Amino acid sequence: MINDRLKKIETEAKTCIDQADNLQELEMIKIKYLGRKGEITSILRSVGSADAELRPVIGNLTNQVKIRIEELLNQKISMLEDHAFEDSLRQGGLDVTLPGKEFKTGTRHPMRITLDEIKEIFLSMGFRVVGGPEIEWDVYNFDMLNIPKDHPARNQGDTFYITDRLTLRTQTSSIQVRHMLLHKPPIRIVAPGRVYRVDEMDSTHSPMFHQLEGLVIDKGVTLGNLKYTLETFFNALYGDGTKIRFRPHHFQFTEPSAEVDVSCFSCGGKGCGICHQEGWIESLGCGMVHPNVLSMCNINPDEYSGFAFGMGLERMAMHKFKIDSLKHFFENDIRFLNQF
Ligand SMILES: [Zn+2]
Repeated sequence: MINDRLKKIETEAKTCIDQADNLQELEMIKIKYLGRKGEITSILRSVGSADAELRPVIGNLTNQVKIRIEELLNQKISMLEDHAFEDSLRQGGLDVTLPGKEFKTGTRHPMRITLDEIKEIFLSMGFRVVGGPEIEWDVYNFDMLNIPKDHPARNQGDTFYITDRLTLRTQTSSIQVRHMLLHKPPIRIVAPGRVYRVDEMDSTHSPMFHQLEGLVIDKGVTLGNLKYTLETFFNALYGDGTKIRFRPHHFQFTEPSAEVDVSCFSCGGKGCGICHQEGWIESLGCGMVHPNVLSMCNINPDEYSGFAFGMGLERMAMHKFKIDSLKHFFENDIRFLNQF
């Protein structure tokens, strides 16, 4: 009789499991037959009240049915789970067979590429690369560069002041002062770095930009040495045959001073869009170090002379990569940066 009852339960459970189409339903079936108050469990509980010789038989039969129902349940659960996974794939869920995400590797920033190339050239010419602080005393940024107290470059409208005496350096020239105070000639250095001016951001201006300063001090240094040095530099940077020309200019810390134009690297001097049909491109400022600057840095101007030059690195990079706006360097647009 117990046998018939077990068969009935098994058949009934099998039908229920076959018809179930979700995991909740299967959970209910499991509770109904195998749960604490389930039909199989109650038979197992009643074994104790059966005749002694029948107990192992009933127990055994019941357990076998229990195992078969459990198997059916587990098979159906994994079948439904497979279907659910396939459904989620169809609805755009995770597909583990797709290739993994590609990790993007960075590239060197165009400013870094330009600076490294320029540094390499000067290193090959026997220069040392030195640095200095971006927060600078006005003494190094102005006074010792022969810039008087009433000079317009010191205006609050042009210079970022932290205190009356401390500024964000407006030029890398402050580094040459620091270097001369600590080192005796001969001196041959380039000093790249960030500088700061009060400026609105546009295609040619930025409140922060990069300069590279050069300084040579020795006995008998002349304007000819300056011209030769810059010619050698620009021939290395833009190729053999690059010409330079000096235009007279004024800087406080050099005398005489000049602005330097370079023959257009794009058209070779014939005139094109890059050089605005001029054939020449304005490239840097330079001059012979003012005797006042040498004296203030404890270098005897009667014994030593020297030259200095300073270039805007953004401008050099814009020329090198034919970039039309300085803003691109600072916006960190990945579409721009990926091109380098
Ligand atoms: Zn040109």
